[in-house]
Amino acid sequence: MTKLIKLAAAVSVITYAQPTMAAAQNLNVVASFSIIADFAKNVGGDRVEITTLVGPDGDTHVYEPRPADAAAVGAADVVLVNGLQFEGFLQRLVEASGTDAPVVELTKGGEVLPNAEEHHHDEGEEHAHEEGEDHAHEDEHGHHHHGEFDPHAWQSVHNAEVYVQNIVDAFCAADADGCDTYKTNAEAYGEQLEALDGEIKAAIAEIPENKRTIITSHDAFGYFEHEYGLTFLAPEGVSTESEASAADVAALIEQVQEDQASAIFVENISNPRLIEQIASETGIEIGGTLYSDALSDASGPASTYIDMMKYNVDMIKNAVLGS
Ligand SMILES: [Zn+2]
Repeated sequence: MTKLIKLAAAVSVITYAQPTMAAAQNLNVVASFSIIADFAKNVGGDRVEITTLVGPDGDTHVYEPRPADAAAVGAADVVLVNGLQFEGFLQRLVEASGTDAPVVELTKGGEVLPNAEEHHHDEGEEHAHEEGEDHAHEDEHGHHHHGEFDPHAWQSVHNAEVYVQNIVDAFCAADADGCDTYKTNAEAYGEQLEALDGEIKAAIAEIPENKRTIITSHDAFGYFEHEYGLTFLAPEGVSTESEASAADVAALIEQVQEDQASAIFVENISNPRLIEQIASETGIEIGGTLYSDALSDASGPASTYIDMMKYNVDMIKNAVLGS
């Protein structure tokens, strides 16, 4: 009986929670993960209702969709995703949802970096990822194969601007009446992103060249490295899907000792255990948490993309220079 009452309550919430005319006209947007949801909110403002599949502190690489996700995608007007094989769950989810909505890859047209990890593999071993073969694509070293490209493109602010422009195009195509609003919102947000880019560059410039090697748990900061001139080392590759081997960790520790890394960080989406081990073996104190592939929740220090980038830079600067 209790269950029935709860169900009825849930149904009435779904039906009546948005009774105004404006809500009925809102564009129904699904964002694959929290950072994209923040971009979408900045472009869409009050005209969009956003459902986020992988929420704050979530790990998109290994996310397992729930039935509610298929329902959300099925009801969407627009689905916004990163692409570059970041969302391994995406294809099956889209198929299961039966959605007619456009699925828009926001990295399209951005500056995309190759997956450096792939260079360690023999090219002859590469093969297409087939459905239902999740564990079949490991090579003899136990490594999984990932995309040809590094998916973490949002870690460069210039690429974030590309995501935003792609969102404007997608929203304008789905809701022509709101196009002027989307463009105006995106312009204002773009100015904030430009300012952010300048702030990051100024902060990094204060870090001496010989103190720019940073350790994190997976290779999520390749774009940050490329754009802003730090060096990031990690025991895990561009996906968190496969665990680092003992040999990977030993090689990293050796490299850390040679390169004299200046700081080591845990990530908000990852178990800290491996980083704690490396920290203790190299004698480098953990500098805190970096937000790599997800925002914090609203009460945390990185609940928007801009706050996340500022927070990460502050943490790195403070760890290296002392605060
Ligand atoms: Zn990642």
